[in-house]
Amino acid sequence: MGTWIKAEVIENRHWNRDLFSLILKADIAPFLAGQFTKLGLEIDGKLIQRAYSYVNPPDSKYQEIYATRVADGLLSPRLHALEAGDNLMITKEANGFFTLNEIPQSEHLWMISTGTAIGPFLSILHQNEVWQRFRKVVLVHGVRFSADLSYQAEINILKSKHKDQIIVQPFVTQEPNIEALSGRITHALKDGMLERIVALPLAPERSQIMLCGNPHMVKDVRHLLIQKGFEKNLRRKPGHITTEQYW
Ligand SMILES: Cc1cc2nc3c(=O)[nH]c(=O)nc-3n(C[C@H](O)[C@H](O)[C@H](O)COP(=O)(O)OP(=O)(O)OC[C@H]3O[C@@H](n4cnc5c(N)ncnc54)[C@H](O)[C@@H]3O)c2cc1C
Repeated sequence: MGTWIKAEVIENRHWNRDLFSLILKADIAPFLAGQFTKLGLEIDGKLIQRAYSYVNPPDSKYQEIYATRVADGLLSPRLHALEAGDNLMITKEANGFFTLNEIPQSEHLWMISTGTAIGPFLSILHQNEVWQRFRKVVLVHGVRFSADLSYQAEINILKSKHKDQIIVQPFVTQEPNIEALSGRITHALKDGMLERIVALPLAPERSQIMLCGNPHMVKDVRHLLIQKGFEKNLRRKPGHITTEQYW
């Protein structure tokens, strides 16, 4: 993956102790909503680099990355500590196939994420294409604590703008939250509760599923869906399940 260029930190928004969003200014090449870039910092004389999805849509003035500080992580604690005016490295070109042009047509699009992996979905939801192509869009976001439900203001704007099309279903696993389901996404999928609550059926002939985030969630949900007759979406063999794992 491509050329490294300099990015300037415009803002580092801390949502809580660990979750943060970096607003960056860099002369990047055009990208597709859902793609990721790489961020890098020199640590002990070596460029340490990691992948991060864009949260902003491609036509934004600034770039936005939503990340978490991983305890004992090499790069993310350093990113977390950056301040306005600091510089870091970013790859000019973005990468990845977690984009709408890879998703076959269907009636409903389900976007299922954990933690910071809501980012690429927000990028996609800010573009017109998704609203033109799918009759309903279900955004599922699983977090541990209520305070981890970032970007609520932005999600509320999407809800009021696309009220007949979007269904947003948060999950909070570690504490009660009256507006979220408790427990894991996988459990609610397995016992049919998710379908009942959002009042839409999950069926291969009507649904495309995008899964992003924690590899355990991605693996377990994919497994459950395959049992229901869904297939992996591959370029050589289009199916219904498209995935991006963060580690
Ligand atoms: C395609 C792709 C896109 C990604 N986009 C994002 C993004 O938008 N935001 C983001 O925060 N991370 C994202 N990641 C993960 C990111 O690249 C780093 O792995 C993460 O920031 C940790 O780096 P580190 O050097 O601090 O930790 P490392 O020392 O590399 O430790 C890695 C460990 O950190 C944990 N971890 C990694 N990512 C996460 C996470 N997001 N949430 C919780 N635990 C995690 C896992 O246990 C993993 O084994 C993405 C990864 C991939 C492959």
